[in-house]
Amino acid sequence: MAQVPVPAASSEAIRRTMVANRRRDTAPEIAVRRLLHGRGLRYRVDFPPMPSLRARADIVFTRQKIAVFIDGCFWHQCPDHFVMPKSNVDYWGPKLRRNVERDRATDMALVAAGWVVLRYWEHRDAGGIAVAVEREVLAATASRSPLNRHEVQARMAGHLEEMK
Ligand SMILES: [Zn+2]
Repeated sequence: MAQVPVPAASSEAIRRTMVANRRRDTAPEIAVRRLLHGRGLRYRVDFPPMPSLRARADIVFTRQKIAVFIDGCFWHQCPDHFVMPKSNVDYWGPKLRRNVERDRATDMALVAAGWVVLRYWEHRDAGGIAVAVEREVLAATASRSPLNRHEVQARMAGHLEEMK
């Protein structure tokens, strides 16, 4: 397969774009992780949900089979903020398109294997993401262990109160 050469490092615009769009430990990811941790949830970070899949999810709840992705507005082409770099379009166009295609393939493979896939744009409020993720985790926990249901429902009721 023909490889498109990476533009020379001397291209300052490209370097800035890449630095500004780090792929892991981004500020939104860290904010969400901190909130989830504060709510008592435990999870894997930057972890491959399925060994056969090369993709890693940003936050993974292995027991509940929930994979969370905080998608960067640039790398995953958010409809509100994505702007195609003006230089080296031949490089960025296919690279970013493959990225989005890989996202969809990853989603399908995970869902087919019984995973719940949660994707959020990094521009979303971290608090809102954390509440949504926790709700999914509690629901999955409840459905997998009926004995916990009472406790889980109590916690969910507490959150509904908080959200009012
Ligand atoms: Zn965005």
